[in-house]
Amino acid sequence: MNNLTKATIRQMAKLTGTELTPRHLQILNYAYNYYHRHNVGPLLYNFKKNLGVSKEEIENLFPHGLNSIFVWTGIPIVSSNNMCIPVADIQIEDFRHVYFDHNATTYMREEIVKLLSKFNEDNLTYGNPSSSTSLGKTAFELINTARFQIAECLKVNQNEIVFTSCGTESNNLAIKGIAFKNLDKKGHIITSKIEHPSVLETIHWLESIGFEATYLDVDKEGFVSPDDLKKCVKQNTILVSIMTANNEIGTLQPVNEIGKVCNSFGVPFMTDAVQAFGRMKLRPKESGISLMSLSGHKIYGPKGIGALYIDKDLSLTPLLHGGKQEYELRGGTENTGSIVAFGKAAHLIHSEMDMENNRLMELREYFLNGLRKIIPDFSINGSLDKRLPNNLSINFPGIDAGALLLYLNQAGIYVSSGSACSSGSTEYSHVLTAIGVNREEYGTIRISFGIKTSKEDLDYFFKYLKIILEKLK
Ligand code: PLP
Repeated sequence: MNNLTKATIRQMAKLTGTELTPRHLQILNYAYNYYHRHNVGPLLYNFKKNLGVSKEEIENLFPHGLNSIFVWTGIPIVSSNNMCIPVADIQIEDFRHVYFDHNATTYMREEIVKLLSKFNEDNLTYGNPSSSTSLGKTAFELINTARFQIAECLKVNQNEIVFTSCGTESNNLAIKGIAFKNLDKKGHIITSKIEHPSVLETIHWLESIGFEATYLDVDKEGFVSPDDLKKCVKQNTILVSIMTANNEIGTLQPVNEIGKVCNSFGVPFMTDAVQAFGRMKLRPKESGISLMSLSGHKIYGPKGIGALYIDKDLSLTPLLHGGKQEYELRGGTENTGSIVAFGKAAHLIHSEMDMENNRLMELREYFLNGLRKIIPDFSINGSLDKRLPNNLSINFPGIDAGALLLYLNQAGIYVSSGSACSSGSTEYSHVLTAIGVNREEYGTIRISFGIKTSKEDLDYFFKYLKIILEKLK
């Protein structure tokens, strides 16, 4: 560390009344060295990985948490609302926004923006769907149309679709709904190690109140083995919960085979299809699926709206008690506008699915060919043939994923780090751990395309990736 930085640190510590300890100096040194190696500041994830320091510890040690570390060591940041992002050292001549993060969330498509604006402008559909007035009936009918649209996509009955506030709630309702039916004798739940946190955390919590759980391993491509599942089913197994498509590595699970195993034991099979809905044909009835979670914001619909398919022969305990809405499975006045938009978004994405998937897979091929020319030794996580058409999880050898993410962000290219190293997250991905990615060797980035992604976006990405990799190596 140079003398100017040392003097700045001493001065800032004095001004803020911070007593510098060896731990402070260790953290500041690490940040300084990281910056001088990568030309961009580290993320929380890097502190956690390399020093074992948590966000809480940083906030306790420094008066303004991460901001203090960056400012005291002279690392450039942009800061707004108490959040700071390190600024990467890259000049962009032809700036454009390139959104490659559709697995995280999608923008609302034009048709949905228009539909919602009209819905709000007309202000004629605000009636309470449970009321007997004509306004109420209109809202009720609108909800039922959306219910029908979603049911149509899955080829299930309309009364098997329950609207919720998001995919997380759908997963909670499905899993706890079954568990609470068995509250007296508890029971055993089987899931996989690579589920979304809304499944894993729900099951962890159920374990804390006396339920039992098995977390199935996956292979190197992220597949659950139906044979392993068969071996784990017990007399007291009350539910199997395996996702249809993984949100990080895109792997599509063998849901038909899993469904067969579950059906042969008479155990309900629940699948989190939040990522798969709209990107592949889903037929719960043919696949032996009893419960399926969906979400609006992954299919160009609004955020804060989800749905759960519940087989008509299955009985669940609701999480929200109250009115008799949603077949008495979710009390509360429905979010009519978002439900209508979700129904329409589901209809639209399904009506163009085959064509769009072909286009996305062509783009993916183009992307992989282009990437190979820039960095021949990258590798892809998950299976290449049994994966979401819009997802790629890429391992860059010898590259820090956080630094790469920040450089790309500076160029207007928005990706996710497969190791969840956004500035707010410190944990290494449980999915990458489960499939055995060596985190010391690779930086992993998730790229996910959508309806607006074009070849021009990919070419722009290649142009800046070349420059960035030069800087990072
Ligand atoms: N399940 C999966 C596989 C997801 O990718 C997500 C969102 O990232 C969820 C569940 C949660 O959905 P929501 O954001 O609607 O709560």
